[in-house]
Amino acid sequence: MGLNAALTVPTTAQRPRDNGHALVGSRCGQCGAVSFPARAVCHRCGTPAPAEHTFATTGVLLTYTTVHVPRPGLPAPYTLGQVALDDTGPTVFGQVRMNGAEPAAGMAVRVRIGADGETPRYWFEPDRFAG
Ligand SMILES: [Zn+2]
Repeated sequence: MGLNAALTVPTTAQRPRDNGHALVGSRCGQCGAVSFPARAVCHRCGTPAPAEHTFATTGVLLTYTTVHVPRPGLPAPYTLGQVALDDTGPTVFGQVRMNGAEPAAGMAVRVRIGADGETPRYWFEPDRFAG
């Protein structure tokens, strides 16, 4: 398959980023590289049109920071973090809603998908079911 196949697939902005309960990206059929959002061409090996892939809804908070400057619809302070999704999923950047708990690197988190039009569309929360 040549790279021309990548020209016929939806652009990154047109691709779904979730399915209503989990984040959706791509996984390369050749090398296994994962991406969020999905890519038209694998960033590791150059294979065109990696397959759409639904990622695990759980992960580990790798690092985080507290933002003290509000933005429309998002009053300060709020927490942003990098989360490594389970099952060899990608590392995803997003809001972390601690719901009163203190964030900690290594803590188990779970993705939440908002309603259509909600901002942000997805965020992470502490995984109260994690052992
Ligand atoms: Zn690849």
